[in-house]
Amino acid sequence: MSESFDIREWFVNRKDLLVISGPCSVESREQLLATAAGLSEIDRVQVLRGGIWKPRTRPDAFEGIGEEGLKWMREAKERYGFLTMTEVAVPEHVELALRYGIDILWIGARTVVNPFSMQEIANCLKNCDIPVFVKNPIAPDFKLWLGAIERLDGAGLKYIGAIHRGFSSYEDTPYRNAPLWEIPIELLRLRPDVPIITDISHICGCRELLQDVAQTALDMGTLGFMIETHNDPDHALTDAKQQITPASLKKAFNKLVYKKKNVDLDETVLLNLRKEIDEIDDELLNLIAKRMNISEQIGDFKKRHKVTVLQMGRWKQILEHHINKGVNLGLDKESVKDIFEIIHKDSINRQL
Ligand code: PEP
Ligand code: MN
Repeated sequence: MSESFDIREWFVNRKDLLVISGPCSVESREQLLATAAGLSEIDRVQVLRGGIWKPRTRPDAFEGIGEEGLKWMREAKERYGFLTMTEVAVPEHVELALRYGIDILWIGARTVVNPFSMQEIANCLKNCDIPVFVKNPIAPDFKLWLGAIERLDGAGLKYIGAIHRGFSSYEDTPYRNAPLWEIPIELLRLRPDVPIITDISHICGCRELLQDVAQTALDMGTLGFMIETHNDPDHALTDAKQQITPASLKKAFNKLVYKKKNVDLDETVLLNLRKEIDEIDDELLNLIAKRMNISEQIGDFKKRHKVTVLQMGRWKQILEHHINKGVNLGLDKESVKDIFEIIHKDSINRQL
């Protein structure tokens, strides 16, 4: 464990990678202390997490140990020097967590979806100086995530962070919650003041993907990780498939490649490549504008001859041709499809 980590200072300097680890659920005193003992062997871990109240899909599942678990969190903190962190979903959780000296709170993906719950939590945290991390909502609804953060801003909180935990998706993906990196990137663009960390456990949903997703998160510039660990993951009462032992976490950290945050602008190779990209992007925009102009002329023709704007046969032909061509050029099929769908949508709008 790193010595005397100051979380409020981290919000200001963001120097060290923030690493939060511990069980999905606090199950017993033995389980928590054994997990914390394992984590205390890893220098990078500063914060011990533990779910005390668990939002479960069905009511017959384990819903968390409750208040008693907060005593064990306090014990683990005193014994190993970790900061402690837990999930709060209602004002009563906030009051209890504060009473037992929990250092950092997080708001879960199922709570962030509900503005009433968010507002209630914000009200009860008014002017507190406890750091609070907001997970993204389950569905890829960016504004709900932003809105939750704004409600905490409104309550005068100064230390607000975000946790990217992936998004539920109807499409078949290897992940439990698909990462959809463009959403945290948008949050970073609009709220550079809110540090974002990555909960790789809830993104992956299984142990096998953790290493790769952790590396991708680092490559995307994540400022930290939340990772679920358990002294006996196979017998965990919740999220057994995605939890790993502290010993496996230690190994995983050793395999990660840490990259530089800032590009040294003296690197002329990179500068030249960026210049080329900028020129190509300019050209792309000119071509798109030219295409839209022709599309409008086609729209006039269709109006004059009373022909419907949407010509399904033609659209299918365009899409098929470009997807085949794109794939032959080594492009990703889905990306080519997305690009042409956007272009086609704009074309249609101009012709209506
Ligand atoms: C958790 O961290 O254990 C949890 C329930 O997460 P989420 O809210 O992201 O599902
Ligand atoms: Mn979990």
